[in-house]
Amino acid sequence: MKINLQSMKIMNKQMILRYLVENGPTSRAELAKHTKLTPSTVSRIVSELFENDLIEEIGYSEKIGIGRKPIDISVKSKFVSSIIFNVGVEQTTVAVGLLNKEIKSIKEFHTGSLKSFISEVKDTIDYLEGTFPLNELTYIVFAFPGIVNTERARIIYAPNLNWKNVDLKEMIDQKYKIMADNEANLSVLAESLFADDARKSENLFFLYVSQGIGGGAMINHKILRGSGFAGGEVGHITVEARSDIKCHCGNYGCLERYASLILPVVEYEKYGKRLKGKTYAEKFANLVELYIKSEKKAIDALEGFIYYLSIGILNIINTFDPDLIILGGGYNHIWKYFGDEILNRISKRAMPGVLENVKFRDTSFENIEPPVFGSNALAIENIINNLE
Ligand SMILES: [Zn+2]
Repeated sequence: MKINLQSMKIMNKQMILRYLVENGPTSRAELAKHTKLTPSTVSRIVSELFENDLIEEIGYSEKIGIGRKPIDISVKSKFVSSIIFNVGVEQTTVAVGLLNKEIKSIKEFHTGSLKSFISEVKDTIDYLEGTFPLNELTYIVFAFPGIVNTERARIIYAPNLNWKNVDLKEMIDQKYKIMADNEANLSVLAESLFADDARKSENLFFLYVSQGIGGGAMINHKILRGSGFAGGEVGHITVEARSDIKCHCGNYGCLERYASLILPVVEYEKYGKRLKGKTYAEKFANLVELYIKSEKKAIDALEGFIYYLSIGILNIINTFDPDLIILGGGYNHIWKYFGDEILNRISKRAMPGVLENVKFRDTSFENIEPPVFGSNALAIENIINNLE
């Protein structure tokens, strides 16, 4: 971008809003100190942000100094930055994301067919229009298990839903801006914005384990999208080359056919005992409870999952050489309960030295699904970057 006075003004405004989003309520004086802008520039930008209805003044600053107590500036607490649809193979969760990074969970619905899904989305937006102060900057963001053209909000292929070439802008036809991305990419984005270790990480990988398996790679702080938006899709790396288990993607022996949450649940229920829960994710959580209690059948049912997940993770390490691998998705405690076992298996197969630089952990988002935070982060990034 050519730097002239106008673009400089915009960049400063973006910097102030970004600071407020990231750091919370701040006084004008502190804003000037941290952004190294002059107090008069800060005052002018703050007035503009007031006019844009993006910020508000709140009480008095807690940092009491000598003399008059300054008033804090904050991003508007009710500013809706995003309506989020986190689309799973079985259930879709709906949430509202605010500019102050808060998330309000709204509801869940059965994902179903594309037609019923689109109609449910439209009804939900209608309902939210009556409930929340949506505005012209509010984004509608979709997180999908599949390959998504993020620039055009187009689903290229979601194998587990069997949705192909879906133009969301056309189908939903809303006055709001629509964005879509892959759930694992949104998860890696969320971690990189909200978690310290991920923010510092040069090469980060999010392994999204749910009814399928997805992957989000952030290489040198940038999401690896690939030339056709399928970068990092490790669910479809071949782990059994001679397998006759066909995958939705058309290939045989894919990782997600062996290490998703589905297989161990099916394995266990083969013994005639039903697991508690409506979805595979809930049933998997129940299966882990039995595993922790050392129930023999639960241990047996999870053996293949642990084995193939280890193979998958080793392939990720050998391909991307990340410094941090984060696991999460439909179940967010995989590393807590299976980490030692997985590491033990990987270390027997890894090249000398490659494991030294990589750390593993579960996602930092326990109660709200990671792509939901990522979707709001994506919307906030766009709101900031499109400021004028
Ligand atoms: Zn596949």
